[in-house]
Amino acid sequence: MEQRIGAIIISLNIFLFFLYGRVLDYFIKNPIALINLTRNRNLLPIFLCIMLVLSLYIFKNNRIQNNLKLITKYLNQFSIGLVFVSIFTMGIHYDWTLVYKIKNFKGNEKKVELMSKLKTQTNLKNKLNPNIYFLIFDSYPNHRVLDHYYSFNDSGFVNNLISMGFNVNQNARSNYCFTGASINSTLSMRYLHLDSEFKTAYNQDNYIARFYSDNYVTNRLESEGYDIISNFNKEDKRFSYRKSLFLDDFVQLVIHLSMFRIIENELIVTQLRSETQSKLQFLKEFDPGNKPVFVAMHIMVPHSPFIFLHDGSRPKYFESAFGKFEDKNKFIEQVRFTGYEIIKILKNIKTHDPEAIIIVQADHGYGAEDDMKYLNRNSVAAANDMREQIPPSNYLDQRFGILNAIYSPISLGIRASSTPVNLFRFIFNKIFNENNKYLPDSSYFALIKQPYLFHDITDSLNKVNMLQTD
Ligand SMILES: [Zn+2]
Repeated sequence: MEQRIGAIIISLNIFLFFLYGRVLDYFIKNPIALINLTRNRNLLPIFLCIMLVLSLYIFKNNRIQNNLKLITKYLNQFSIGLVFVSIFTMGIHYDWTLVYKIKNFKGNEKKVELMSKLKTQTNLKNKLNPNIYFLIFDSYPNHRVLDHYYSFNDSGFVNNLISMGFNVNQNARSNYCFTGASINSTLSMRYLHLDSEFKTAYNQDNYIARFYSDNYVTNRLESEGYDIISNFNKEDKRFSYRKSLFLDDFVQLVIHLSMFRIIENELIVTQLRSETQSKLQFLKEFDPGNKPVFVAMHIMVPHSPFIFLHDGSRPKYFESAFGKFEDKNKFIEQVRFTGYEIIKILKNIKTHDPEAIIIVQADHGYGAEDDMKYLNRNSVAAANDMREQIPPSNYLDQRFGILNAIYSPISLGIRASSTPVNLFRFIFNKIFNENNKYLPDSSYFALIKQPYLFHDITDSLNKVNMLQTD
């Protein structure tokens, strides 16, 4: 008798322990006015009291004492049921086309085709093989956006770049508002959402993600004998941080859903800081060998969460990892930190590799708290927003304004209004004598409600831009 009661109480408490994260998520989505239960410091004591009260209730309750056998039986069936539900949920969420990924892929990037195409070209004599650095700093805005919307003047950084010989487009803009479409369209030298395969793809996310590993730019450079050093597809051993247990998806899920949730933010911050620092460190020390290299790195700053103060130190108060509370000052701190790091990296590259072409660019800008409304699938703001309309142009202006600085020892002839989709068309025309036409420089926005329905918002951006530069 005693043992069974004990077992039931332990099961109940384990169950509640692993339910904690879910309960917290519920209150984050449905906040109540009476007391703020979206924070651990308020929810945890209440939750612990409930656990204690329920345990005592089971211990004292006569009816439970009398039906122990039956209750144990139901509890066992319930557990088996839970396992099946989990497996079923995983099954329906998995994108099964991934299994047939290789078979289905019909991009024109295939390496074999590319090689045979190159063999038929005859004018390969005057080819240059400069090292190319393609460095993406996620969400780094351009000079004008920082000045206009944040009253932050980054002239120090811009002038530093200019004094190193960089061409800085202080008004640059991206083609897309999120990472995958942006980086992969740059590397594919075309607007991927216009592909006919994109429109019919079962999972459009995966269609775009495929180009991280199989894109025209990387394949062309590889076929020219370039060594590819990149973290776009998977982490390269040369700059990978030490594997920590926390990296495991399952461990992360357990932490997120259970009462371990109370230490989640601390763990995430530590992990993200070391991931970013190890990549920055790699670039600050990188020394190319004799083989031509293409260094393509995507670095997750100044993108939120805000985990670096301008001097690289760790902020004392850290509120919610992925953003309920994102404040402009914290963003600027992280922008400044990133700026200092970029300068250190470029000094290293210019010392070891003075003949290289260096591109420092953002994949998209940053729309502050409005990003939650338009681009965050899970936010309260998104749920309350009608989301049928294209956001106001002031928001778009911030979300599409990107850092863009290019250094090249040979003139690439890049137009002032050029956008990333044309970047490698200019570069390859110059260094490989390719004959790429230039695409119209357009920007496309997609609301999170219909994430792959792209709206051409180029005119809207042009208008804000004209008003501000007048
Ligand atoms: Zn991004």
